Order: sequence, then C-alpha cells, then structure tokens
Amino acid sequence: MHHRVYKTDDEWRQELTPEQYRIMRQKGTEPPFTGAFLGHHDPGIYCCAGCGSTLFSSKVKFDSDTGWPSFWAPINPSHIAHHADRTFLRDRTEVSCDRCGAHLGHVFDDGPPPTGLRYCINSAALAFEPEEQAIAEGLGAPAYE
Ligand SMILES: [Zn+2]
Repeated sequence: MHHRVYKTDDEWRQELTPEQYRIMRQKGTEPPFTGAFLGHHDPGIYCCAGCGSTLFSSKVKFDSDTGWPSFWAPINPSHIAHHADRTFLRDRTEVSCDRCGAHLGHVFDDGPPPTGLRYCINSAALAFEPEEQAIAEGLGAPAYE
C-alpha cells in the first residue's frame, strides 16, 4: 500500500536541511556538479529524502555529464508524479515524489536506451539505501525489471 504523506510547511522546514527544503519544497535546483550522488556508483536503491519512498535503482543510473545524478527509469512509475513545467518559457517535465510531493528534478527525452529518458534528479532530494540494507528492509534488490 502506497500511503500518501502530508506534512505542514513548518514540519518540512524542521525535518529537512535548508538546502533540501529549498529544493524539495520550493522547487529549487542544486548547483551542477555539486551533489553527493553525482559520481556515486554503489549498488542500492535511491529513495525520497522526504518520505523514504523508493524512486530509482542503482542499475538505471548513468553518467549523463550534465552535473546531476541521472537515471533512465523510475523503480516504479507510480512512485513519481510528472507535471508540465513552463518556467523560464521552456517546455520541461517536472518530476516529484508521488507520496510526499517533494520536487525531485526534471525528466528529459535525451536519455539512453531502452527508455530514451533522462531523469535529472537533485542529490539533495535523495537518500541512498545500500543493496544489503535495502533487501533487509524489504525494499527489494536494486534490479530493473
Ligand atoms: Zn517523498
């Protein structure tokens, strides 16, 4: 069961770091080539830093050379919400955590096969569960089916 998480703005402010709050609750973007998970290649599962919902497997992470962690598919499409974003008069698709509403980043259509998608995600919006821990916690192995 995929329960939704609702918190007040004050609660998020208390739980998140100022940088996480700016990115996840105010749709900010971390500077390129600064995020903790940019060059991170350990096997495991990337979860939402706000609510722990599983978002991406290490198996679909790739080096896009854009400066942000990039993934070519979500772990489960229903865990991520897509929204049209016309900010700066560019057509982009914003992605957020479907469970808690945290802004994650954007998805573009210039990714590698098999999906051709590039989920461009702020490191600050992610929490990493190493493979053994993910399995122990019942999140599953970081496979892509
Ligand atoms: Zn979340």
